[in-house]
Amino acid sequence: MTKVVKFGGSSLADAKQFKKVIDIIKADSDRRYIIPSAPGKRFDEDTKVTDMFIKLYELASKGKNLDSQISKIKERYNEIIEGLKIKNFSLDEEFNAIKTELEYNPTCDYAASRGEYLNGLIMAKYLGYEFIDPKDIIFFNEERGLNSYKTEKKVSERLKGVKHAVIPGFYGSDKEGQVMTFSRGGSDITGSIIAGAIRADVYENWTDVSGFLVADPRIVDDPVGIDMITYRELRELSYMGASVLHEDAIFPVRSAGIPINIRNTNSPKDEGTWIVESTCHKPEYVITGIAGKKGFCAVSISKALMNAEIGFGQKVLQAFGDNDISFEHMPSGIDTMTVVVHEDEFVAKEQKVVSAIHRLCDPDSVEIESDLALIAVVGRGMKSTRGTAGRIFAALSHANVNVRMIDQGSSELNIIIGVENEDFDKAIKSIYDIFVTTKL
Ligand code: ASP
Repeated sequence: MTKVVKFGGSSLADAKQFKKVIDIIKADSDRRYIIPSAPGKRFDEDTKVTDMFIKLYELASKGKNLDSQISKIKERYNEIIEGLKIKNFSLDEEFNAIKTELEYNPTCDYAASRGEYLNGLIMAKYLGYEFIDPKDIIFFNEERGLNSYKTEKKVSERLKGVKHAVIPGFYGSDKEGQVMTFSRGGSDITGSIIAGAIRADVYENWTDVSGFLVADPRIVDDPVGIDMITYRELRELSYMGASVLHEDAIFPVRSAGIPINIRNTNSPKDEGTWIVESTCHKPEYVITGIAGKKGFCAVSISKALMNAEIGFGQKVLQAFGDNDISFEHMPSGIDTMTVVVHEDEFVAKEQKVVSAIHRLCDPDSVEIESDLALIAVVGRGMKSTRGTAGRIFAALSHANVNVRMIDQGSSELNIIIGVENEDFDKAIKSIYDIFVTTKL
């Protein structure tokens, strides 16, 4: 069995955390390829090493002296090296090289990538594993997108016959061979690419929580965890704000049918969450998760006999599209159509959009309502269970929440509910209570 194992920044923030990670790696010989992030925050007000490197780049690009910032970063790594008691090992030469590179050719991507690079060197030295620089195996194209074909080929060639290796996360190289990074949190993507390319059995992603929770713990007290979720369910929840994993980390493993196991470095016995393509594992509750976002606007367009007018919807959407506004949902009635959009995107352009709707569609009226929150109730279990919607709305009515919009996709995987921003927390709590606490 081959596992690709990624550790996030909080799992590698200091020597104490590093030791937990080493124990996890050593506990299972299937954990063959290790993807470290840069040291993250040790406490709330702390600074991530990646941010310290970005600051170093900013100083370099202004031609300022780099010594004091370099010493601060060095301190973070020295604490790890000393805490792990690694003998005959120093990063001094590496820091000299970084300083020279940033003095002569400062780029933000190169600076930001050094956090992972140096952490990878420490980890490889400590474990006695081979160090593989991702700039030689992960390739970007001109638009900062991944060159998947070349990357997959190189990764599988390079890892053939390599029993164990440390491959830093977060970066690769562009067409000219210059270091280029993914967006923030991108070590998740590196792990997924490596797992996908070598057709690993599992991609383990170790972080500081025991996987996904059914609801946001800032809203619901001590919510239960999700033990298994499908990629499709996860996509619905992530889109609505549930974030543990970088969005782009799904595709490379999903297309290869490899499960992701989200685990907690601080509680390694927890099974965490399994993210899978498909499963016959019955969910414990009818719903898998609840997530939501505030700050939407509903634009309702009314016109008598709209139903008979061919192309009406297309013209409405054109009015939004021409103004670069994407829409979230579009519930409709016989003579009305409502387009739900992000308020912050829409507010500056609202009058332009309204006049475009009038020009293109000649409606009877256009009404705009703001302060709308959307809540997604997601679950593969909903498909086979009668009365799910009934229970959701009964719970909301008991909690005195007025429902302003309802949208159920034909996949029966999710139900989207629009409520007032101010009812958002109350609505989520009541849905959680009815499905999880009272398990009705
Ligand atoms: N170190 C990078 C960041 O802070 C990437 C990562 O941790 O995944 O965003």
